[in-house]
Amino acid sequence: MTASTLNFRGSGGCGLLPLTRRLSRDLLPKKTRKACYIFDVLTTWYDRVVKKNEVDKVNPPKFDKANDMAELTHLNEASVVHNLASRYMADMIYTYSGLFLVAVNPYCSLPIYNHEYISTYKNQPRDGTPPHIYAITDLAFRNMLEMHENQSILVTGESGAGKTENTKKVIQYLAAVTTPTNTTSEIGSFEQQILQANPILESFGNSQTVRNNNSSRFGKFIKIGFSRSGQISGAYIDWYLLEKSRVVTQSPLERNYHIFYQLLCGASMSMREKFLLDGKVGDYAYLNSGQRSIPGVSDADEFKNLMLAFKIMGFSEQEQTDLLRVIAIILHIGNLEIGEERSSGQAKISQFSQVEKLCHVIGVPVDAFAKALLRPRVKAGRDWVDQSRTQAQVQFSLHALAKVLYERGFAYLVNRINDVLDRDSDGNMFIGVLDIAGFEIFEANSFEQLCINYTNEKLQQFFNHHMFVLEQEEYARENIEWQFIDFGHDLQPTIDLIEKSNPIGIFSCLDEDCVMPRATDKSFTEKLHALWAKKSDKYKPSLFKQGFRLTHYAAEVDYSTEGWLEKNKDPLNDNITHLLSLSSQPHVAQLFADDAEGDGATRKRKGLFRTVAQRHKEQLTSLMAQLNSTRPHFVRCILPNHEKRPKRMDNVLVLDQLRCNGVLEGIRIARTGFPNRLSFAEFRQRYGILVTQGADARGTQLAKAASTGYVDGQRACSLILDALKLDKSAYRVGVTKVFFRAGILAELEDRREKL
Ligand code: ATP
Ligand code: MG
Repeated sequence: MTASTLNFRGSGGCGLLPLTRRLSRDLLPKKTRKACYIFDVLTTWYDRVVKKNEVDKVNPPKFDKANDMAELTHLNEASVVHNLASRYMADMIYTYSGLFLVAVNPYCSLPIYNHEYISTYKNQPRDGTPPHIYAITDLAFRNMLEMHENQSILVTGESGAGKTENTKKVIQYLAAVTTPTNTTSEIGSFEQQILQANPILESFGNSQTVRNNNSSRFGKFIKIGFSRSGQISGAYIDWYLLEKSRVVTQSPLERNYHIFYQLLCGASMSMREKFLLDGKVGDYAYLNSGQRSIPGVSDADEFKNLMLAFKIMGFSEQEQTDLLRVIAIILHIGNLEIGEERSSGQAKISQFSQVEKLCHVIGVPVDAFAKALLRPRVKAGRDWVDQSRTQAQVQFSLHALAKVLYERGFAYLVNRINDVLDRDSDGNMFIGVLDIAGFEIFEANSFEQLCINYTNEKLQQFFNHHMFVLEQEEYARENIEWQFIDFGHDLQPTIDLIEKSNPIGIFSCLDEDCVMPRATDKSFTEKLHALWAKKSDKYKPSLFKQGFRLTHYAAEVDYSTEGWLEKNKDPLNDNITHLLSLSSQPHVAQLFADDAEGDGATRKRKGLFRTVAQRHKEQLTSLMAQLNSTRPHFVRCILPNHEKRPKRMDNVLVLDQLRCNGVLEGIRIARTGFPNRLSFAEFRQRYGILVTQGADARGTQLAKAASTGYVDGQRACSLILDALKLDKSAYRVGVTKVFFRAGILAELEDRREKL
């Protein structure tokens, strides 16, 4: 994508108003209509008196349903929301906003992803077709082939906004345009395998939540590799921040990961027997949230699809059993009831049969497991002693075990998919698609939100910097005087506050306290306050709760620090993990191979131990390095309403998202420069009339220059602009285009209407 996407391409017209005001406005006389301002797009039910300088200006009507919001001469929040809303109601779910493609979830199936659409977008310039995810994908594909440059498509948005659906469309499009039309992709073909990676990932990585029946609980970066001739040559998946806590607890209206239900509803008798699964969904503690099925979805059918996808991937029977065994083990862990000895208060196993079942499936001796769980051997000073555990401690270590099993099982699964798909030979190019949660502000924000918001802060910085580079390039190419500001720097103080090690930032401080024997969440929070409260204006101690407030680019967010030390350490019972590394089930043993060397201290010395913050920071650094080596394309998905209903747009909700996802930030940045641009020909054609006929008409030379093509475009435009007596700071004349500050074209439109 180039800076020319910010061009002002439209022309002419009248005004732009909030939806509910449009009807009455349309009945007004033309002149009165033109004087209308947008009073308030948000409070649409009643009139409010506001100061004139606080209202946003209306765009001329030619810009109604503008394909690109950068075209709007009055670039303000109200006009952006209005434009999205009017397009959305007409089933135009995709809209450009400068460098962004904004995609609003239609919540219904639209006939815009079929073969005809694919052919429409294939090999077409972006500006020649209506906005679409295919247009962006095609642009990325062409850029890659023509410029031999890796590409990335960054898809973000709230939960349920449509990130994963759009990501699938990107891959579907790439698979379609690279598969010769006369060949059908057969079962087991490479394109099929790439497409089938998705249902597998969704079974294990997605879950039903209040916001989305198929919510991805992890972020992913899928790189599709291409040969020089443009054939898909491989794929590779990286993943981030899997929500492990869901494995052991879910809120009442949500489910655990799909795979648990699919296994219980779809597995054959023999498989169930092998895993000793004799219960129904409701019989398993980890699936007992209250929400057991998803309307309109058959878990048994989904299991069949999963088995087919496994087959297409070429996973052996043994491998399939291994992957599913982990799920069965977790179900058994959840059902292990832990009681308490009355006299000593020590933990005990309430029903021996439960631990027997678990140990059978997990492949370890029952006695050793019970011992490791209830009386693990720990180092006390120089000696090793058996330490009794309380019920709560044992329960905690069982949950930790279930979570780590799931996470490692997931990591193994993605690695296996990568083994099958990653056929890239050296020197190949790739298009990477990032499907990752957007900025999160909940009522209560914790460590998980900090990780995702930190990620988004970095991604926004990446965008700002990219925009700066492109704008600078465009201004330099057009030889106009303007030092565009790199707004990427604006985000640095918040990023430093989180990731820097010197002075010590939030993550490093947390890591430090995780190894301090006496540190608590409270002492960690106080230490942070002492370090940052007076040093950074982006940091404030929370007034009422234990925590802090951070200023992100999108908003100020309050984080509660309760439980952060535990969340960051992610502690495991070494005795159990060591035992699992000796499991008679090779797959289980493999998942715990790193724990074969005994205690945690040894692993730490060997550099195998990582805190969650460290791991995330490292992963993000690697992701950013990869993104930096690509030409990026930005997709912002928008949730239109909370009811999952089509044709309904909640303006406040949409505006909030535009603020958080950087679309408004992009517009703000654009406005500091010269966001609207017209080629000389376009400018002359549309506004030349002002100097030949209007009040600005002056001299025959000028009139000629404006109305005919005899005079060189640049000179003609300069002459016209002189005659129009615009403030010199309001425009720049480049080598091929005229650049305008925001709002100037509306003024010219006004003059045209007065002719
Ligand atoms: P999460 O962060 O929870 O994973 P998400 O942004 O990935 O959310 P999706 O799973 O892609 O959201 O979309 C949620 C649902 O919205 C889909 O299951 C589908 O029903 C609907 N949806 C989203 N985009 C489209 C689309 N382009 N066409 C039709 N339906 C869509
Ligand atoms: Mg998703």
